[in-house]
Amino acid sequence: PDPSISEDLLAAGRTAYELDRSHVFHSWSAQGALDPMTIVRAEGSHVWDGEGRRMIDFSSQMVNTNIGHSHPAVVAAIQEQAGRIATIAPAHVNDARSEAARLVAELAPGDLDHVFFTNAGAEAVEHAIRMARLHTGRDKVLSAYRSYHGGTDLAVNVTGSARRFASDRGAAGVARFFPPYTYRSAFHAETPEQEAGRALEHLEQVIQLEGPGTVAAVILESVPGTAGIYVPPAGYMEGVRELTRRYGILFIADEVMVGFGRTGRWFGVDHWGVVPDLMTFAKGVNSGYVPLGGVAISDAVYDTFTDRAYPGGLTYSGHPLACAAAVATINAMKDEGMVDNAARIGTEILGPRLRQLMERHPAVGDVRGLGAFWAVELVRDRATKEPLAPYGGASPEMGELAGECKRLGLLPFVSENRLHIAPPLNTTDEVLHEGLDILDQALEVTDAHAAG
Ligand code: PMP
Repeated sequence: PDPSISEDLLAAGRTAYELDRSHVFHSWSAQGALDPMTIVRAEGSHVWDGEGRRMIDFSSQMVNTNIGHSHPAVVAAIQEQAGRIATIAPAHVNDARSEAARLVAELAPGDLDHVFFTNAGAEAVEHAIRMARLHTGRDKVLSAYRSYHGGTDLAVNVTGSARRFASDRGAAGVARFFPPYTYRSAFHAETPEQEAGRALEHLEQVIQLEGPGTVAAVILESVPGTAGIYVPPAGYMEGVRELTRRYGILFIADEVMVGFGRTGRWFGVDHWGVVPDLMTFAKGVNSGYVPLGGVAISDAVYDTFTDRAYPGGLTYSGHPLACAAAVATINAMKDEGMVDNAARIGTEILGPRLRQLMERHPAVGDVRGLGAFWAVELVRDRATKEPLAPYGGASPEMGELAGECKRLGLLPFVSENRLHIAPPLNTTDEVLHEGLDILDQALEVTDAHAAG
């Protein structure tokens, strides 16, 4: 174990593991097959496991902790707020909530100046859709295949990845379209320009076939995350904005994973200068120190609810502890230049070094990303692009790769046949290189499964 980890901490970790296995019901898992990793300490870009080993956190805990673990300014803000006002009903006014809303409105693009707070991303998605339906008086929502929008009833039903099949009944009022994904083009496109153009033509056809007058909203992740970190080609998001406006459909940008700096801009849509009508956020808004999410709302949608009550609310909406954490997080990100740093590490370190890994390792079929948000897609054969895991699942080879990373001191985020590289935005260059060296070494186990 690392010398910073005491014997007491290790003993507490062992007890926690046993209690967890007896009483904690884990998400998305067969309970009997689990051997979850214990974390006994977390600081900056590192976590320490149940054996006291230090690991580089390239997952940011579900792409969440953008400012790293245990940031002292955020910890202090939560402590101060807890000592003063820990909880109030949403109907009252509270300084932490007011300031958090002001900061979100200031950073959000265009006229997204009003904020409805939630406790998580899925709730934000549910409320954004409800707002769009009430604003337009239409019912249908169009969502993308290969997307992830959350685990609650409606959010999982607009989700377009295999995960939704766990509880998908096929919700009434949800239709799907193919988003652009240049590496595995549904449109047989050969260039990003073709992919963008054909994906837009396809979306317009879906809108027309569904009946434009029935469609309330198109929901899209600004950079689809969990389902593959595939960056939309130039022109696509601008085209979706134009199409939705033309047909009187609202554009909901889901920024739960990429919002607040992950891609090197405050929001993913900022890469294309696109202003959606509704924008969902969570995770990065306060780095997950206390659960918080929300919907940023345009003036036009806001005006729908000036005379008419919005039918929806949550006991913990705009919780003071969560909002105090958001204010401290956003201020720390600004003061420490973390968003610019994310952009820099993407162009100077992560992009070039991951492309080098692709040259060295035949199992790496594609690398792609922006800022501090990258995917390494693993294939059995580069020519056929056969993935190293079945659609919607993980394979023993991916499990072996994840295990090798952990053994060498790196915590990656594994999704289907991909490793997602999403370190805290303020990870030092030295730690990034150390993590990438480990990845380079770990990928050797996977090369054995690739045709070369
Ligand atoms: N939308 C996106 C784009 C997400 O990445 C996620 C979570 N990974 C969600 C929604 C759901 O957020 P939560 O898990 O906080 O409900």
